[in-house]
This record gives sequence, structure tokens and C-alpha cells, in this order.
Amino acid sequence: MYRKRHEIKDLARQRIERLLKFAEIVYPTEPELAHRYGKIAMAICKKAQIPYPDALKAQVCRRCGSFLVPGETMRVRVKNRGKMKYIAVTCLRCGYVRRYPLKWKYVLPKPWHIFYGDRGDY
Ligand SMILES: [Zn+2]
Repeated sequence: MYRKRHEIKDLARQRIERLLKFAEIVYPTEPELAHRYGKIAMAICKKAQIPYPDALKAQVCRRCGSFLVPGETMRVRVKNRGKMKYIAVTCLRCGYVRRYPLKWKYVLPKPWHIFYGDRGDY
């Protein structure tokens, strides 16, 4: 069936959202399934040629597609490098480190604002 390009992109976004929700639900009992959902969500993104949504960036490892849970599969640290502060997020499954510079003192960088609000207490 023929679908317009933007319809495909909308569908892709909806599916990614749903996959991430499912991943959150199944993670406590079946972590491997959650990681699989993360990978599928990334694959959908690539196929539909849409940029990674913020929720996907925050919850799925860019390198290995693992579902990221703070304290379980990811480590979040605030670090200083000279005058610069940044949040370092480490995927504990593949070791990939992603750094988000903190430009303003009280504003959390994307994609963290979705989960922790625009203002953090760091
Ligand atoms: Zn990873």
C-alpha cells in the first residue's frame, strides 16, 4: 500500500515511543527483551530516516542499542574538565561514553530534560 513519506515518519515515531514504553515495562523481568526493543527502535529510526527522538537518545545506547536504566545498565556522572562541566553517560554493556556539555548552570542538556525536568539540582 502506498503511504506518503510523512505518514511513514509519523508511524515510525509512534512505534518507537511504544517500543520504549514496552522496554520499560519488561526490563525488570526480561532485560534481554528490553535491549532487543531498543535495537528495533533504532532500526526503525534508520529505516524511516528520521533523527533519533530525544526519548530514544536518552534511553537507548547509540552504539549497542541496549536499553539504558540508571544504576543498572548506565552510569551517569557529572564531571569537570577545566571550567567545563559535562554529564558523562556510560553504557555498562558496551562501555560507550557519551558526554553532554552543561552550558548553563541550571539547565539540563537534551535529552535529559524529558526525565529530570529543565532544571537539575547538580
Ligand atoms: Zn552500549
